[in-house]
Amino acid sequence: EWVNINDFVNHVLNRFDMMLKKDAEKSDNSVKKYTIKREITKQALWVEIDTDKMMQVIDNIMNNAIKYSPDGGVITVRLLQAHKHIILSISDQGLGIPRKDLNKIFDRFYRVDKARSRKQGGTGLGLAISKEIVEAHNGRIWADSAEGEGSTFYISLPFEPISEEGASWDEI
Ligand code: ATP
Ligand code: MG
Repeated sequence: EWVNINDFVNHVLNRFDMMLKKDAEKSDNSVKKYTIKREITKQALWVEIDTDKMMQVIDNIMNNAIKYSPDGGVITVRLLQAHKHIILSISDQGLGIPRKDLNKIFDRFYRVDKARSRKQGGTGLGLAISKEIVEAHNGRIWADSAEGEGSTFYISLPFEPISEEGASWDEI
């Protein structure tokens, strides 16, 4: 399905903002609070994706950002176009991930600090599934982190810039 990826990302984030609002109305203090900061290009960026699957990827990364952050953290979501790619990044102010684990977290069932992770709940499959989905789109997923400061997850997807006429010269 062809989608304008900036509308798509905004749509996925709106669902998180709606959930936050619902939790606030319930005045349930056990629910974790967070703020989503958006730095999303206004430029229309058309990409062909499986929307259900890519929504699952963003949900996974957003839910991790919430789960592995203290209450009241800021989650910054950036979307930009760089040459023949679009890059989506999701940054949190959470626990961070040790350098030696940065690649392993994309393996099935791998969880940093088993005792800590068990308390948080989950299976350790979220990022492995996300990686499979992103790579099925010919994209890449990776993470960067500073322990105790936070983590950033990046997704890049191939993007074909289109000229204003809607076609590139070599198609004519
Ligand atoms: P599941 O997603 O299956 O419910 P999970 O969250 O433990 O369980 P993944 O999403 O695959 O599994 O993440 C793997 C591990 O990577 C986590 O257990 C956690 O240790 C670490 N991790 C992932 N995202 C973050 C983050 N934003 N900050 C700190 N650690 C993270
Ligand atoms: Mg997870």
